[in-house]
Amino acid sequence: ILNRMSVRFDSRSVNEAFARMTVAAFVAQLDPTLEELNDIKTVVSEAVTNAIVHGYRDQVGEILVSARLLEGNFIEIKVKDHGCGIPNIDQARQPLFTTGNSERSGMGFTIMESFSDKLKIRSSVGRGTTVTMLR
Ligand code: ATP
Ligand code: MG
Repeated sequence: ILNRMSVRFDSRSVNEAFARMTVAAFVAQLDPTLEELNDIKTVVSEAVTNAIVHGYRDQVGEILVSARLLEGNFIEIKVKDHGCGIPNIDQARQPLFTTGNSERSGMGFTIMESFSDKLKIRSSVGRGTTVTMLR
């Protein structure tokens, strides 16, 4: 590990931009291309939005975002919540699958996957969810 950071914040929608910009500022030291930076910001935005709207549907809880710069110019980013958890991860990863309202398109995980080299989802019902992206 060459460098790392972590932040924790409330699951309020104003903090989505905070998380996205914080990760972008940390990643800047790698001299990323605009495309890489935008991809990373999109993944953070989707994962943090999921924690806010699904993980903590009817409550405000804590979200933890952490990032590690690894040997070989890789970056690993984690978004963790202690919310409701996902009962069926394979189903949740399917394009267009959503348990949300009509504002949701069910494309978040599909987008996160396409913008990551690797996307790992760990979740346990009643305990929470951790999404890890490698790029
Ligand atoms: P979109 O991201 O397109 O607005 P969406 O959030 O429903 O729609 P995904 O991001 O792909 O789509 O997530 C799929 C489903 O996985 C969600 O509808 C929800 O049921 C579940 N899910 C995702 N993240 C979490 C989380 N952090 N906690 C609990 N459930 C989650
Ligand atoms: Mg989503």
